[in-house]
Amino acid sequence: MEIINSSKENALNFIEEIIEQDLKSGKCKSVLTRFPPEPNGYLHIGHAKSICLNFGLALKFGGKTNLRFDDTNPSKEEVEYVDSIKNDIKWLGFEWANEFYASDYFTQLFEFALILIRKGLAYVDDSSADEIAKSKGTPTTSGIGSIYRDRTIAENESLFLKMKAGEFPEGSKTLRAKIDLGSVNMHMRDPILYRIKFFPHHRTGNQWCIYPMYDFAHGQSDAIEQITHSVCTLEFIPHRELYDWFIEQLELFPSKQYEFARLNLTYTIMSKRKLLELVKENYVDGWDDPRLPTLSGLKRRGYTPESIREFCDRIGVAKRDSLIDMSLLEFCVREHLNKVAIRRMVVFNPIKVIIDNWEEGIVEELTSENNPEDPGAGTRTIPFSKELYIEADDFMVDPPKKYFRLAIGRSVRLKNAYIITCNDVINDEKGRPRELHCDYIKASRSGNDTSGVKVQGTIHWVSIPHAIPIQINEYDRLFTSENLALEESDFKDFINPNSLTINTNAFAEPSILESEMTDRFQFMRKGYYCPDKNFTKEKPIFNRTVTLKDAWAKISKE
Ligand code: ATP
Ligand code: MG
Repeated sequence: MEIINSSKENALNFIEEIIEQDLKSGKCKSVLTRFPPEPNGYLHIGHAKSICLNFGLALKFGGKTNLRFDDTNPSKEEVEYVDSIKNDIKWLGFEWANEFYASDYFTQLFEFALILIRKGLAYVDDSSADEIAKSKGTPTTSGIGSIYRDRTIAENESLFLKMKAGEFPEGSKTLRAKIDLGSVNMHMRDPILYRIKFFPHHRTGNQWCIYPMYDFAHGQSDAIEQITHSVCTLEFIPHRELYDWFIEQLELFPSKQYEFARLNLTYTIMSKRKLLELVKENYVDGWDDPRLPTLSGLKRRGYTPESIREFCDRIGVAKRDSLIDMSLLEFCVREHLNKVAIRRMVVFNPIKVIIDNWEEGIVEELTSENNPEDPGAGTRTIPFSKELYIEADDFMVDPPKKYFRLAIGRSVRLKNAYIITCNDVINDEKGRPRELHCDYIKASRSGNDTSGVKVQGTIHWVSIPHAIPIQINEYDRLFTSENLALEESDFKDFINPNSLTINTNAFAEPSILESEMTDRFQFMRKGYYCPDKNFTKEKPIFNRTVTLKDAWAKISKE
């Protein structure tokens, strides 16, 4: 697999080319696509790619997209998942034409099965799942026909009706298509169409005790809805022959399946089964843990729908599997947040500064833009007083020549405020700097600087009497392995032990308390942050979306 960074082009992707042809040739009059999630987990960034593609195709060609839940496996499906999927698609910015469920078609699918039985193209098999798997043969040797393969049509119909009526125990019988046990395509070797399952369904309750297999439900659901272009991922290529066979035998609307490469991202996993494992075994804080590649996790992390759509657009639609660099996703959100994020000053690891020549008790309200990239974002006031916090890192006892921040005898500009000069440092009992004594230059106020003093460094700060203590969750990659697919041991062996660092020693300017849940922030010189879902004015918690610069790219080059 190659690692792709970006491949933005304006040319049509291969599916768009097919659609353009189909419209030109009159093969179809309008475009109807669908997004078909199984409600057995939360959506992830891979699904976002499929959503952007399916909805994007319809938008591009003036068509429509259905949302169809592929809910044919009741034991894994839940209403919670249905609701989260709908929320996530809306959040991404797409509207479906119709909300359908494969379970809406259970009666129709049952009738399709009867049609196949009556055509002599399906039979009830009493073999166990194991026996069926064994008798299927191997890719190089033919399968062996079950002893039940030649049951009469009447017998098959009667047995199938009894299966539906609940007269047989689970696992005792299946309905199979009678196709070709010698086919080179294993999926054509008498695939199972129905199995018995005494399990209540999230929508049909106890109405059914036989459920159609994915292959028997998917294509026919497409055909019932008259989907013109049914787009799925590459692993369904071998299913296509079966997809077409059902449509042909049942004489249904000729939906067609097209396959594209699924999205794989470095340093993460995309399988719902594995994500569920992380959630159930408490490796993460729920499906919306900001370290997960789920859409709800990305949202809680501060990702914007715009940045995710841009990412899906940049990676394009390929016919070959690839691994996309996580830094591309981070690049996309950084680029969008730079345009929309409100700037705030937050000190992450404070040291105290006392402005000796500032009068005790005086507070000056400074005004500053919320976002220099967006004049429409307005301004805020920032209180300035005698006692301030700055980052401990912005002071050095014994600085090198090119250090442009604070040291004894050196000057620096406080962002949006004044130039200060450090005169003295007071250490704590362990000899670490505890308090810096500085003087400010009155004529140096930002926006109205007549001092003539030039300094090279600008640092952020917070007024101590006005400082708001906040909690900051710093998130990092969830896994330490770039490509988990290549690892031999369990994926959980590669969980990054430092994927979350909680900082409770941070202080923000007071306007932070006015944060709305939808606000996106740039904490100056630090990165992009958003309020966590547990944010309250009493306990303000922020999540790091992404750093200002790509720290990983730097580390991997060093
Ligand atoms: P999993 O195998 O992890 O359960 P899935 O593919 O079965 O995931 P579905 O709910 O069936 O999940 O997916 C809905 C749609 O999203 C399908 O059309 C599927 O092909 C597509 N999809 C799922 N994962 C990806 C991915 N990583 N990249 C692109 N499309 C994806
Ligand atoms: Mg699937």
